[in-house]
Amino acid sequence: QAKSRGRSRSVVFELAMAASQRDYYLLERDLDEAVERNQLSLVFQPKVDLISRKVVGLEALVRWNHPTRGQNSPGAFIPIAEHSDQILRIDRWVMRNAIAEQANWLSHGLAPLPVAINLSIADILSPNLVAYLAELLEEYQVPAHALQVEVTESCFMRQLDETQNVLRALNETGISTALDDFGTGFSSLSYLRQLPLQCLKIDQSFTQSMLEDSNAEKLTQAIVAMGNALKMNIVAEGVETREQMNWLLAHGCHIGQGYYFSPPVPPEDVHQVIERIELRLAA
Ligand code: C2E
Ligand code: MG
Ligand code: MG
Ligand code: MG
Repeated sequence: QAKSRGRSRSVVFELAMAASQRDYYLLERDLDEAVERNQLSLVFQPKVDLISRKVVGLEALVRWNHPTRGQNSPGAFIPIAEHSDQILRIDRWVMRNAIAEQANWLSHGLAPLPVAINLSIADILSPNLVAYLAELLEEYQVPAHALQVEVTESCFMRQLDETQNVLRALNETGISTALDDFGTGFSSLSYLRQLPLQCLKIDQSFTQSMLEDSNAEKLTQAIVAMGNALKMNIVAEGVETREQMNWLLAHGCHIGQGYYFSPPVPPEDVHQVIERIELRLAA
């Protein structure tokens, strides 16, 4: 009896696998046309200076509006795109459109807020990344310091030298660099020493457990201390409550990003959202 139950379970498991594999291929096929068919869009999430209570930057996050499935989250399709070469086309689209939005805001006389884009390892290893970004900045007349790139530790696990060279070249162009999701990968004191990074983003899993779990709290404190000692800007991701914000302020982490301030919003809403955040925090 145990055996037959085991078998039927494995049949169920195989069916589930087959369904998700089929799903995977369908998504991969559709993703191929997402750029041409204008199905991608960008949303922007503010980063807030907890001391001045001002918005000090924005992160661009891609969205894919699928004709029948509706909005797909990047958590679902970025890994698929990374597995093929589609990520290059998608991220080039993101680079152009994030810079175009920045140019549009600047042309309306809005205070320049650096916009960060997320890069995958394939972007880093693509030979003309730095030249491509420099050309876009030139084309849209956007200053390089108005752009930041975010990379994750998984980027340089295998390609440390290459990543180091690319980040250095970006810095030379005037583009700043941030280490995303810090604490989740192989974290990686040697990366911090070797890579030209101006900003450290503490993964949201720390932000969300530090008030409940004293080990998480101590680790977050240690990360903040380390980032400060290295004179990096430290951003806590995934701030959802006032208590988390207050903890960060009290422990030397001075920039926060998360639903407590605002979810990512479409470009036309960004400046209204900024105004609302700053009013609320000033009160
Ligand atoms: P990430 O770069 O670490 O971005 C932060 C993610 O956390 C975003 O998810 C954001 O919507 C979400 N988030 C922000 N505040 C909160 C909060 O308070 N609570 C919670 N639970 N979540 C919060 P999103 O937009 O779904 O993106 C997921 C990941 O997909 C990103 O993580 C990034 O690694 C990747 N990604 C997004 N856009 C791009 C892109 O244009 N290119 C590449 N290569 N990767 C991207
Ligand atoms: Mg990011
Ligand atoms: Mg992150
Ligand atoms: Mg992430």
